[in-house]
Parts: sequence; C-alpha cells; structure tokens
Amino acid sequence: MTLISTALNIPFVDLAAQHQTIKQEIEQAISRVLHNTDFILGQDVTLFEQEFALFCEANHAVGVDSGTSALELALRAYDIGPGDEVITAANTFIATVLAITSVGATPVLVDIDPETYGVDPALIEAAITRQTKAIIPVHLYGHPADMDPILDIAMRHGLIVIEDASQAHGARYKGQRVGSLGHAAAFSFYPAKNLGAYGDGGMLVTNDPQIAEAVRMMRNYGQSQKYYHVVEGYNRRLDTLQAAVLRAKLPYMNRWNQARRQRAQLYDRMLAGSRAIHLTEAGYAEAVCHLYVVRVEHRDALQAFLGEKGIATGIHYPTPIHLQPVYQHLGYVSGDFPITEQYAKQILSLPMYPELSLSAIEVVAQTIKSFTPLPPTNPIATRSKSLG
Ligand SMILES: *Cc1c(COP(=O)(O)O)cnc(C)c1O
Repeated sequence: MTLISTALNIPFVDLAAQHQTIKQEIEQAISRVLHNTDFILGQDVTLFEQEFALFCEANHAVGVDSGTSALELALRAYDIGPGDEVITAANTFIATVLAITSVGATPVLVDIDPETYGVDPALIEAAITRQTKAIIPVHLYGHPADMDPILDIAMRHGLIVIEDASQAHGARYKGQRVGSLGHAAAFSFYPAKNLGAYGDGGMLVTNDPQIAEAVRMMRNYGQSQKYYHVVEGYNRRLDTLQAAVLRAKLPYMNRWNQARRQRAQLYDRMLAGSRAIHLTEAGYAEAVCHLYVVRVEHRDALQAFLGEKGIATGIHYPTPIHLQPVYQHLGYVSGDFPITEQYAKQILSLPMYPELSLSAIEVVAQTIKSFTPLPPTNPIATRSKSLG
C-alpha cells in the first residue's frame, strides 16, 4: 500500500471547521452589536451572563475579559492577598497560579491524583497552614476534580473554594454542573476552550450575590454607579462582541460536549491494549473532554513520529509550575511532586474537537499502534566506536 506514505493533515484543533457550521448565527450576532453599537457592557453581555448562569445551574455570572481575570477578581472579592496562601495543583496551566501571585498571595502546590490528574484531596490537608485562605481545584482536561472531599476539607478549615473551570464548561460532578460546586468559579472563553470566543473572554460564576456584586464593580473601574467609585477597580469587562459570539455558540454546548465524549470513547476503544494509556473517568464524573491526553513511554519520539505523518499533538503541560523559571523563588525543587513530574514527561494530547472525524481518530490510533521506538543504543558498541 503506497497510501501509507501519503502525508495526512489532522490538526490538533480546527476552529475554522466549527465556524463553518455556525457562520450565519455568528454573522447575525456580530451585525446586531454593530447595529446597536453598545460595545461596552451591552445587552448581549447582560443576556449572556443570565444564559451562562443558567447553563452552570448557578445564580450569578459576571462577564470579564479572560479566565485569568475571573480567577484574580474572585480572589480579590474574597479579600485574599499578601500573607495569604492558596492551594492548587502542581499540574495546571500557568494562569491558575498567575492569578494567585497577581493578588500578592502565595501559591502552595500539591501533587495530582494519578487516575484523574486532578488535585489529590488526600494531599491538600497536609498543605494547610494558618495562612491558608483558599483552595483552587482545577477541572483539568475537562474532567471534574473530586469536589466532595475538597469541600469537606474547606468546610472544616474555613477555606474558600474557587473552581478553575476554564477547561470544563458543562462538565458534571455527581450530576451537578461544575461552576456551581464551590464558593465561586472561573471560566475562560479563550478560542480553543470548549466554549470559545473569537478573542479573549472569561466569566466569574457564583451563588453568592455579594461576590457577584464585588466582581461586577471591580471589573468596571470600581464604580457602584457611573463616576462614583467605591473600590479600587480595574478595566476587565467582557466585550459585547465576544458576548454576542458566545451567546450564538452556547445553545450548541451540550451537543459539542457530547461529540467530544463520543470521540474520547472511540479513542479509548481504538487504543485499548496499546502502549498509550488514557486517564480513567471517575465514577462521579461526566467529563467534557477538553483534551484527550494519553501517557506513553518514549513520548517525544512518538510525538515526532506522529508529526512526520501529519498528525498534530500537544503537551499539557511540559514543565510543571514548580519548575518554571518564574516561580523559582517559591523554593520548590525537582522531586517535590513525583506524579506531576513523571506525567510531564509522558503525557501527549491527541487531536480533539467536536468536528474531528471518526475516521481521523482511527488513523491516529492505528498510527500510534504502528509506532515502534528504536531500541536504546548499545553503550558498549558506542564506547568501542568512540575509542576507535
Ligand atoms: C485557559 C485557562 C486559564 C486562563 O484563561 P484565559 O482566558 O486564557 O486567561 C486558566 N486556567 C486554566 C486551567 C486554563 O486552561
């Protein structure tokens, strides 16, 4: 079969494919804003906040300019700052931790659960000190963190729980939507997220009216009414054009998440018995498969092999937070979080998006199965060669 050598083109995500399916709705939504010219905190922002709160089965949603801002303003609303400690996972996107340090608080990292890659609740309790004020569980890759033990620990120690739901729009924990489980939650609408804007955007979700009100003021110059400023605020508003795009996409979320789950299940079936291991969905979880992440030996070689065949992949994330140059001053060293560190060398994210064709998944799985890593070079042969 000479077809084998034909280069494929399977992208990691394909935003254009999704746009094609909703082009008309998007264009109508954008025209509406251009017609209304209510570009700042316009009608679409208000309506999207109501619709997204309903989607999360929560009482309040406040549109902001990014997921990072949603986390940061949530921390500020709970008056968390210098001298306070906030516990989160060692394997997360850097933004979770940037939010903590941006308010002047100290991030305290804990290792992850080897099955679900979420923060390990058993390790949280040992990380609590008198300075601890909050826990930020991350629903990583669209799989909810194990919230009940986390909420129980938080209750016993009087801590705030802020969900980082940036990768998990629509996921459920024991039947309940993420975003409504803790004191507050942050969502990102970065274009490649499960619900993506056509630019940046974010949302703070909470059942607490005071927290919603505090973030509402902070995102808009700290004003309680026009030109009357009661807190030191910021300019962190969700753009009306982005809200209009997001409103057009929200009705598709359940369908798109279902399509992701279906694709993840096909990958699971196709890769069963291969060298690539997928995380196990916990019994409490209905994951929304933001990423399909496998673990594999010889990861770098496999990634290069797939790349040569035209299959794009990613690594989320290659360098754990505690080994990032920017956070050297936190004092962590290599070896502090063994599972996170081991997984960082083994994880590989395969193509995953709702429009990904099922035949592409079969090709990806077959290509992974056909990969045979080179045996390690014989050290004696190498030595005698260099001596000669
Ligand atoms: C994307 C993401 C964020 C940040 O969201 P932005 O909208 O890019 O600021 C935070 N946490 C996690 C886990 C994310 O994946």
